[in-house]
Amino acid sequence: MSSISNLKRKPDLAYSPQAAFQVYTERQLDTIKPLQKLPDEQRLAMRVVANVLPFRVNQYVIDQLIDWDDIPNDPIFQLVFPQKGMLSAAHFAEMAAAVKSEDKTLIKQTAESIRGQLNPHPAGQQLLNVPQLGEEVMQGMQHKYRETLLFFPSQGQVCHSYCTFCFRWAQFVGDKNLRFAAKETEQLHRYLQRHTCISDLLITGGDPMVMKTTHLAAYLEPLLAPGFEHVQTIRIGTKSLSFWPQRYVTDPDADDLLRLLERLVRAGKHVAVMAHYNHWREMDTSIAQEAIRRIRATGAVIRTQAPLLHHINDDPAVWATMWRHQVKLGLTPYYMFVERDTGARRYFEVPLARAWSIYRDAMQQVSGLARTARGPSMSAEPGKVEVQGVTEVAGEQAFVLRFIQARNPDWVQRPFFAKYDPEACWLDQLQPLSGAGRFFFQGD
Ligand SMILES: *Cc1c(COP(=O)(O)O)cnc(C)c1O
Ligand code: SF4
Repeated sequence: MSSISNLKRKPDLAYSPQAAFQVYTERQLDTIKPLQKLPDEQRLAMRVVANVLPFRVNQYVIDQLIDWDDIPNDPIFQLVFPQKGMLSAAHFAEMAAAVKSEDKTLIKQTAESIRGQLNPHPAGQQLLNVPQLGEEVMQGMQHKYRETLLFFPSQGQVCHSYCTFCFRWAQFVGDKNLRFAAKETEQLHRYLQRHTCISDLLITGGDPMVMKTTHLAAYLEPLLAPGFEHVQTIRIGTKSLSFWPQRYVTDPDADDLLRLLERLVRAGKHVAVMAHYNHWREMDTSIAQEAIRRIRATGAVIRTQAPLLHHINDDPAVWATMWRHQVKLGLTPYYMFVERDTGARRYFEVPLARAWSIYRDAMQQVSGLARTARGPSMSAEPGKVEVQGVTEVAGEQAFVLRFIQARNPDWVQRPFFAKYDPEACWLDQLQPLSGAGRFFFQGD
């Protein structure tokens, strides 16, 4: 398939992985060539924000995905590079003063204090969903929905680049307590064996595809043994198809990885690569398409998901093009998420009413095969809540909502209403309709 954008890319670099892999973190911001042309003030602003929120980018993203003639509006630039508006004016001023002082202790303290005010653990994920076997706490796992276990392998808790809107950002800024990290495979396998209600294992991170194939195999191969028949589906959540498609094409163990996926498929598992795509541009390079082709050749399927984000993809045309493109490449659109209430949400959030209208508008532009994405969906404390539309109930404007997933399986697929509010961006900003004191899923 030919490229649909007219980006000027550095030729062949994507296939020379050593050059493309060059990684920059906040300490190397000033060494990134195309940034050196930007005004000093803008570069300082990036340094200030990067001292609070995680920053990491590789040369492939810089050279192949970003249109440097369209800065700062380029969506991939917004996706990985810090922007001034990602912090409130007060937090920005506080951090700018610390950075100017060059006092390392002050910088660190200021960063920690601001991070603490950015809701680092949305939806109570650190406390509410960590499972136990008897007295033993299963670190590195989350079991919120009966049939799906989330597993955070300890070697997979970084990413090839970091997204500026990431809801797991707190894991990347050094506080080890915030990390979900599995001590060992043994706990995972024991937990799965004891819970035959689990049909889906979802390996996530960070990005589990930063792991070597041998590590991934140590988690996954044992699931082919007797005792794990109930684990039908292995999902791997990843952004590597965007940030590092070399993982499937030129990495030294790329072929081993594909053979691992193929063995799992042949043994009867459903293997789903849950690919995170924010913009069609991420699927537009020849190496990204080669990676997709190679994964599909193993028999694994690729499903796609992403949040809707101001500055990056809050445009129905972007989603329609992206979904159409995905279907063409053999991928299945799965979720459109609402940006979570954490980190730089202030910069990215889109009101629910507008999110629904973008979703609907995009859906109208594509064929049925691209209408498989559900959303816009909020991953909130009680579950995944989808905005189904806006209607009128007894003369009152209302959102129609439903649980796609819920902590209590009995809540799933029950429609419910909330007062229409054009500004509301998250579940906790919604009110029950007049007359109803609370939502049906809230206790008395
Ligand atoms: C989204 C999610 C899942 C998977 O839900 P599906 O509806 O099966 O895709 C599992 N666990 C958690 C915590 C999630 O947020
Ligand atoms: S790839 Fe996923 S986990 Fe990693 S920074 Fe982006 S959103 Fe966060």
